[in-house]
Amino acid sequence: MSAVTDPEVSCPLCRVAADRQSLCCPSCREDLSVLFRLRYAGRIDYNRALDALDAGDTATALLRLHSALEAEPGLDPARELLESLSVAGPGGAVPAGREGDTPSE
Ligand SMILES: [Zn+2]
Repeated sequence: MSAVTDPEVSCPLCRVAADRQSLCCPSCREDLSVLFRLRYAGRIDYNRALDALDAGDTATALLRLHSALEAEPGLDPARELLESLSVAGPGGAVPAGREGDTPSE
């Protein structure tokens, strides 16, 4: 189990990778810091879930994983961890997953 790597954020207009230092698009200079924050949100929650698991707090870990996947539906490590916890989870405290709608970017 390991933390995920930094996300890639690209300008929605130019489709080029944002500059990590300035958090701006190197092409059109659009401020992409909000996108960075959105991208990081899922990973921050995922890493908090790992911390919670380390501390033996499975309930908090599950909440964090759900938040992580809401922020970033494509965050596979969070999804896999959530699935493994759901299978081996304690006492069925796992909320039912939504069916049908898998938002994709
Ligand atoms: Zn741009």
